[in-house]
Amino acid sequence: MIKKGNKLYSIFTGACPKCHQESMYSNKNPYMLKDVLKINDSCSHCGTKYRIEPSFFYGSMYVSYAVGIAFAVAAFVISYLFLGSGLMTAFIAIVGTLIVFYPVIMRLSRNIWINLFMHYDKSLVKPKTD
Ligand SMILES: [Zn+2]
Repeated sequence: MIKKGNKLYSIFTGACPKCHQESMYSNKNPYMLKDVLKINDSCSHCGTKYRIEPSFFYGSMYVSYAVGIAFAVAAFVISYLFLGSGLMTAFIAIVGTLIVFYPVIMRLSRNIWINLFMHYDKSLVKPKTD
């Protein structure tokens, strides 16, 4: 298990990159497609604004290429090398994987992107008062 305080925690859960106390996303489920890219304005726990500048998340497109390739390679390795499928089947597996995991890839890319600029800060983690 990845614990709070580790960058990977924020990357894999979409938690606030600074305090790791709550999700950046208004809907935690990436497969609610209308909400897939809905990110709150700021963290209600530590007040961090997620958009450093208005078009901040456009940069995550570049990350999504890399993440997409990683998923494609994984799909290829699993189908072609492990399951011994033919090249055509492996190709279909890649396309299928990219489609099925598209919402996850989009979110992972944004999480990685914002974590390049923001870092966990333990002092922001306040005990809940309610
Ligand atoms: Zn926060």
